[in-house]
Amino acid sequence: MNLIDLMGSSVTVKVLNGKKLSQIVQNQLKEQIAFSSGKAGRPPGLGVILVGDNEASKAYVASKEKSAAKIGMRTFDYKLPSDASFSDVAGVIQEFNNNSGVDGILLQLPLPPHLDAAALLELINPLKDADGLHPYNQGLLMKGQALLKPCTPLGCMLLLDLAYSEASLETQDFDLSAVKRSDLSGKHAIVIGRSILVGKPIAMMLLERNATVTMAHSKSPDIKALTRQADIVVAAVGRPGLVRKDWIKNGAVVIDVGINRLPSGKIGGDVAYDEVISECSAITPVPGGVGPMTIAMLLSNTYQSFNSKIGI
Ligand code: NAD
Repeated sequence: MNLIDLMGSSVTVKVLNGKKLSQIVQNQLKEQIAFSSGKAGRPPGLGVILVGDNEASKAYVASKEKSAAKIGMRTFDYKLPSDASFSDVAGVIQEFNNNSGVDGILLQLPLPPHLDAAALLELINPLKDADGLHPYNQGLLMKGQALLKPCTPLGCMLLLDLAYSEASLETQDFDLSAVKRSDLSGKHAIVIGRSILVGKPIAMMLLERNATVTMAHSKSPDIKALTRQADIVVAAVGRPGLVRKDWIKNGAVVIDVGINRLPSGKIGGDVAYDEVISECSAITPVPGGVGPMTIAMLLSNTYQSFNSKIGI
């Protein structure tokens, strides 16, 4: 919690610490894996495919593999050169699909431009679709029945649940089970950004929770007039500081998905955090908000497909 003093009156703002929440989710997964690996006779397995030399992708993959190892998850690792052909990558996906020790498959994006990412994602067995990006799962998400859901949107929803929960991450005895799935009936949510990776799936998940959802994007006029009516604002745009204080209704919950490299070299979100924090009831910082949740949800998805396979 943060106490912000506004002209003498104190307002309590929940700063949604994704770094801490991600660690708590991973600690819980570690305990669950220790138990279920013994029963299954093997740990859950994550197959990771990295194509090319994109420095950010290499760093993401290394961090995902390290986190998987820490919670007792096995990783199967394929690093392909940047000139790998479609059939080279398809062959690895097929191998992972056929490997009964692999429960989740991660095809690290972006791929080199000569490779059709959408066509390759379609080759992943939907039951092993750890990133929740297979069109089958995306279609089921529309019906509220996805087997596996995209990781960043899942992370946003857990942070939103934390925002509406009585539980505080800052208490010694914080228990993840105290963070209940929130019913957003009567709440107006706006999602800015309509990508297939973030904006659209978040909108679907908010609808599943009964929120009234508005979607805004680069062609929407006067987004400020829309956000000013919203109880929940999710910004997934990639424009630093787009969402200003006067865009926010007092007491709104603000989820900032944006990751932008600022001229200073620092990372910043799509929300002007320093000014918006005095207007909202809860907010995710950047860095340390949505970003760290994505990896926890990838591991959680992989554990979920392992679990449904071994039936524990
Ligand atoms: P994208 O480029 O695919 O989509 C951006 C969306 O923003 C588009 O739908 C576009 O219509 C909309 N948009 C662009 N300019 C706009 C404007 N001025 N006003 C309103 N809408 C506008 O990006 P993406 O993959 O959805 O990612 C969005 C942001 O989230 C990026 O900063 C990205 O780095 C970040 N991101 C973070 C995580 C994470 O783990 N935290 C994961 C994925 C993406």
